[in-house]
Amino acid sequence: MESRRFGANSTVSGEGRMRGKLVVGNWKMNGALAANAKLLDRLVSGWQSSGPAREGAARGLAVCVPFPYLGQAQAALGGSSIAWGAQDVSAHASGAFTGEVAAAMLVEFGCRYALVGHSERRQWHAETDLQVAAKARAALAAGITPVACVGETLAEREADATAAVVLRQFAAVAAALGTDLPKIVLAYEPVWAIGTGRTASPEQAQEVHALLRAALRKAGAADVSMLYGGSVKAGNARALFAMPDVDGGLVGGASLDADEFLAIARA
Ligand code: PEP
Repeated sequence: MESRRFGANSTVSGEGRMRGKLVVGNWKMNGALAANAKLLDRLVSGWQSSGPAREGAARGLAVCVPFPYLGQAQAALGGSSIAWGAQDVSAHASGAFTGEVAAAMLVEFGCRYALVGHSERRQWHAETDLQVAAKARAALAAGITPVACVGETLAEREADATAAVVLRQFAAVAAALGTDLPKIVLAYEPVWAIGTGRTASPEQAQEVHALLRAALRKAGAADVSMLYGGSVKAGNARALFAMPDVDGGLVGGASLDADEFLAIARA
């Protein structure tokens, strides 16, 4: 079923329901109290003055910060229309899991979102599809929206395995969540485009998003917002976000610069 553009910040799906537009910043392991304070302050004042750019936005703007800065994000963004979240969450509720952070703890810091399955977690921490799915389930159980990340490596793309990889990663999350699947946000992040300055073309992004949209529809979750991530910048955001199945972006490096991040959000 076709989607058509609707207003500035929302998209009506073929079923007639509305998908929220969303831009999420991923600070990764960056930040320091003083620098964060300036960045958050600039975001709040800049986003507030964006006015019409936010009209109709079902979700809007969010930043996922390192765990130690969640309290700072809560203090700075509380009362604004910018949401915040974590970059990971434990699959476990509590107990002997040294170094992990439970979803209930994130709730205490006002988190709305938690990234799960970011490729850097899959790559450097050997997270499996099943672990990612369990994290998504734990987040949802606590009332946090998981931003579930899927994406292929360069080798997988070159081996023509993109569809198989992203559908496999998606299927694990879908199986774990069942009827709760419509509550997630899905992010397509080709690993070869993350932090490399090499962006998927709008057509490449749309091709995979359309594939995932079909899988979502089959699973009864056609209206899940789907973000593209991978070297999104102010200069390429508009063309990427104009694609019919791209509902916004997951932004790494560029989210550390307030002006750049706001320009992406306004796109
Ligand atoms: C990311 O960390 O999710 C990401 C997309 O990074 P970058 O925008 O820097 O490529």
